[in-house]
Amino acid sequence: MSKCTPRQIISEVPDVQTVILPHNWFDHLNPNRSVFDSLYEWMLKEGGVSSYMEETLHNRTYVGEKLYNKLRTVEKKHLNKKFKIKDDELARAVSWSDINSGPITEIGGCKISGDVILVIPESSREALNEFALKIHRNERQAAIDKAKANAAGANFYQWPLSQIDRPDRVGDIARNAADDDEFPRKSNQYEEIKCYYGSYEAAIESLKEGWLEYLRQYPERLKPYAWCNECDKKITVEEALLAWSLDTGELFVLDADCLNKYKRFDNFESRPLSGIARIDLEQLIEKYDFCELDTERLEETLKIWGILPIASDNGYVYFIRSEKTHAIKIGYTAGKIEDRLSALQTAHPYKLEVLVTARGNRAYEKALHARFAKLRLEGEWFEPHPDLVAFISVLPNR
Ligand SMILES: [Zn+2]
Repeated sequence: MSKCTPRQIISEVPDVQTVILPHNWFDHLNPNRSVFDSLYEWMLKEGGVSSYMEETLHNRTYVGEKLYNKLRTVEKKHLNKKFKIKDDELARAVSWSDINSGPITEIGGCKISGDVILVIPESSREALNEFALKIHRNERQAAIDKAKANAAGANFYQWPLSQIDRPDRVGDIARNAADDDEFPRKSNQYEEIKCYYGSYEAAIESLKEGWLEYLRQYPERLKPYAWCNECDKKITVEEALLAWSLDTGELFVLDADCLNKYKRFDNFESRPLSGIARIDLEQLIEKYDFCELDTERLEETLKIWGILPIASDNGYVYFIRSEKTHAIKIGYTAGKIEDRLSALQTAHPYKLEVLVTARGNRAYEKALHARFAKLRLEGEWFEPHPDLVAFISVLPNR
């Protein structure tokens, strides 16, 4: 339950009278009287509350939660002393006393905060009702918003439901998920949900788009798992191995059994998938010259599985020149260019220099590769043709 402040009440309801108890008020109470009756008597005699209210004061007195708790505690002490009762019996007696003469402590389902006493005259009744309705509505809306926000990310099925009105492919997934009871509503793993679409490629593309958006919003909702590329078994990240063929350069995620099977036919190297970062991947790609399509697919898969962070794939596109041959490498790194250069230098016989770096992502790198495709020597190395040199010379270095 949320709270409303005395300030809110005073600003929305006219003619509210504020009364504040002296700090020592509780010290001089008659223990044989109900603390509530003592309160009203004091309000009329010394608190400046008009005596015409005497009869109805207990229905007009609103108190903050802090003061109310204090009043009830004292009432409990008094009743205990007077009637020598305790536990359940005492609790019931306090409640009786409260129901008969206790002040009001909430408005529109919201507790009043603080330790102030407010007296609201009959003439303000309508304004008070309106105020109560308003905060009740706010309270309800807040509860709905909260439930919606929770539901939106609790598992993947609930997320698209919150996107159901979208006119795009993600909206299609949502409508489909809502209408079809077969949709794997309880699953929160992409690979399991993907099975539902069988070999319907277009739907899988839409699912992937929605899934990546969901992950960007709720990265913490996904417990990372991996799937063996050979036997499709779901495995923990700790059990998963990144394996590559030294003969063909093909990349796989495998469990230990399947890797052993593969090793009988091909030369394989592997390393554990857990703890792998994008920068590690880049170094492996550089060292083993994996096929570009493969590594891109792997990066995407690791993001979908929650193993690589999805947040930002913006890094640098760099142009590096070999001092001896003047060939230019166009590459991408998500990390520091210095790290990239020294990794490259180890594998290269001649001195390398960075010509320029530009903010960008993998897509930008690919676009550049396509643009200068005619100049391609091998891999990411390009002929230092005047077109390329001219292009580089006008790039802002960032
Ligand atoms: Zn396997």
